[in-house]
Amino acid sequence: MSHSSLLGMSKERMTADNKRVINNDRTVDVNQLVPIKYQFAWHFYLDGCANHWMPTEVSMQRDIEQWKDPKGFTDEERHVVKRVLGFFATAESLVGNNLVLAVYRCVDNPECRQYLLRQAFEEAIHIHAFQYIVQSLSLDEGEIFNMYREVEAIYKKDQHAMSCTDSVLDPCLDTTTKEGLQTLVKNLIGLYVVTEGIFFYGGFVTMLSFGRQNRLPGTCEQIQYILRDESIHMNFGIELINAIIDENPEVWDESFQEEMIIFIKSAVTLEGEYISDCLPNGILGLNTDVLDEYIKYLADRRFEKLKLPQQYGASNPFPWMSEVIDLKKEKNFFETRVTEYQTGGALEW
Ligand code: MN
Ligand code: FE
Repeated sequence: MSHSSLLGMSKERMTADNKRVINNDRTVDVNQLVPIKYQFAWHFYLDGCANHWMPTEVSMQRDIEQWKDPKGFTDEERHVVKRVLGFFATAESLVGNNLVLAVYRCVDNPECRQYLLRQAFEEAIHIHAFQYIVQSLSLDEGEIFNMYREVEAIYKKDQHAMSCTDSVLDPCLDTTTKEGLQTLVKNLIGLYVVTEGIFFYGGFVTMLSFGRQNRLPGTCEQIQYILRDESIHMNFGIELINAIIDENPEVWDESFQEEMIIFIKSAVTLEGEYISDCLPNGILGLNTDVLDEYIKYLADRRFEKLKLPQQYGASNPFPWMSEVIDLKKEKNFFETRVTEYQTGGALEW
């Protein structure tokens, strides 16, 4: 870390030209958002704010009635719902902690930090959402929140994504060295590409398939808002990674690219194992083959954005998922309600 004090060290006025995405020197004051150099970070910050929502505004009434109805769900469907909630309940906390304790410390550009502060709050909202869903459906909290330690397929996903985080938590990590910077970039890929860009999607598509049948509408409405948030998180993360590579091209050498391809492909394999554990026999028109195809399709899109060669050539079996991701805030995909924070949040005196 180049900053030993939070107060700016330079007596010169700062210009955008001196700013770097990480490893800023003493001419850059971490407290000065403007002049903005990295417009993508500022725009993602504004987009995130425009999408603001709170879990408790979503009614869980119909979900509660459906879930209580003994004929509402088959045993297999109940198993899937619990496995998905079990993954997300702790994955959102892992992401939040990684952001605040590891990523935020290393990424010292003020406009990127502005986005990271927004993202960290969104992760708190997502953690809240899963707490609210689990509580509303009267699920066994101990069972759901311990699942990542008790269910191997979930544990392996978390372990894979977090395998590169401990070394970034180490305050001695030196991101001015090539190895140190590669450690950081691998953690960013683990967070934004693997966790938010691959591991979240098996759960998203499975839950939203219930929503398409008007089942668990409150849960699915929240999942849909989370998906919208996560797609911005991932896009910010990929821009951030690409900006680091642009400014430090030495990190992105051939052997590191090869290592990242293997890292992401292993995530695809683990997501396949998790899906098999969730859906041993297939439900709702979903089966492990079609979900596997979807995950490979997503992984190829992520490879493309990282300017790495596509690995699978898979096609998208769920074109309706793109509509959910592009959801405009005026219209809810399931038409249950409308949220408009930019005006609705105004105070009345
Ligand atoms: Mn999240
Ligand atoms: Fe996220």
